[in-house]
Amino acid sequence: MAALHGQQNTFFISSSVEQEMSKHMYHSLPQEACGVVLGEAAAGGIRISRFQPIRNVAPNPLHHFSLDEEEWIRCIFNEPQLIGIFHSHPQTSPVPSNQDLMALPAYAGLIKVYLIGTPALTSTSEPQMHLNGYEIQYKVADPSKANQQKRYDLQPAQLRMT
Ligand SMILES: [Zn+2]
Repeated sequence: MAALHGQQNTFFISSSVEQEMSKHMYHSLPQEACGVVLGEAAAGGIRISRFQPIRNVAPNPLHHFSLDEEEWIRCIFNEPQLIGIFHSHPQTSPVPSNQDLMALPAYAGLIKVYLIGTPALTSTSEPQMHLNGYEIQYKVADPSKANQQKRYDLQPAQLRMT
């Protein structure tokens, strides 16, 4: 599943899954929404086939997200296709915040896909979402040193609606 060096992985997302994420995001406003995505490796990338909302239990849900631990743990044990997480940025662009990067080690060993959505104002009647996808990568800063802290990084991925 690892991409060749310098090659972007593609996330294939069915439009119905994208709509469910968008709906959940709008439903949760003004708070950040979050959830997990299920899927599997596919030719050229990762296919995302389901979205499951999870309660945001952050003390300040207007600006942060924190997956409800019980629901998250249930997903880890019951969903063999658990492949990523989604959350929304109601006020800012769909790029990882410093806080997001600092929280990565809590999830990163279990998932590959990191999605961030933002409400998009359009002239159409249907509410739209800007969605960015990132692949979680594991880096060892200096392999020669013992007791390395695990470092995770988010690499922009291509999103393709199917
Ligand atoms: Zn965030």
